Amino acid sequence: MNQTAKIINQAKKEGRKTLLETEAKTICIEYGIPVTKFNLSKNENEAAVQANQIGYPVVLKIVSPDIIHKSDAGGVIVNLKTPEEVSIAYKKILENAKKYKPDAKIIGVLIQEMAPQSTEVIVGAIKDPQFGQTVMFGLGGIFVELLKDVNFRIAPINAEDAKEMITQLKAFPLLNGYRNTTPADINALIEILCSVSCLVMKNPEIKELDLNPVMAYPKGAKTVDARIILE
Ligand code: ADP
Ligand code: MG
Repeated sequence: MNQTAKIINQAKKEGRKTLLETEAKTICIEYGIPVTKFNLSKNENEAAVQANQIGYPVVLKIVSPDIIHKSDAGGVIVNLKTPEEVSIAYKKILENAKKYKPDAKIIGVLIQEMAPQSTEVIVGAIKDPQFGQTVMFGLGGIFVELLKDVNFRIAPINAEDAKEMITQLKAFPLLNGYRNTTPADINALIEILCSVSCLVMKNPEIKELDLNPVMAYPKGAKTVDARIILE
């Protein structure tokens, strides 16, 4: 039933503060947040079977409690189109992880549906010492890192709040069909924001949540990477 509580308790028991991507995405699913299809593989054969089940192209990612920023470790390989490419990428990812952190505990390799490229947005939450759970929304890449074009609201939020967080961004025109960009499904993003608000309100032990990126499509949206940090 309550996967979220189970996952959080298990992490606590193991003394882990950062949830694995598989765990964070399982929690997202329980709260109705759309994520890319995924499956954890323990060896190359499993990886091939799962890639077939998910359907090509796929993405492979390292799953390790000791590797938080996966691409820094060479732990993400995208757009794999054949079983041969999956097999090569599988070996490469383990090799890269070993080089990056020789003593990293490796849980396996995540096989994942490749989300088509689109406008990337970021949905976050942070537990503010003063205001408590706070949700965040912004556009991916330079918009967050360089321009700091993000909006925060204290949770819980309703759909109206969520809509304001999105439409009041300076970069909002990029989500709304500016020039040749396709307009994003704003309602899908509002739903994700409200679900994240609900998730962090119900689980006060969550200190940080980061859905980065979420692909925003003309119809729907999909979370490509999810990180949750506990207190
Ligand atoms: P990390 O943030 O830990 O380095 P991510 O899972 O965010 O790793 O992967 C890095 C980048 O690879 C993402 O920002 C995204 O651009 C791309 N990516 C990852 N997973 C997928 C996917 N399933 N479909 C499409 N692109 C992906
Ligand atoms: Mg990421």
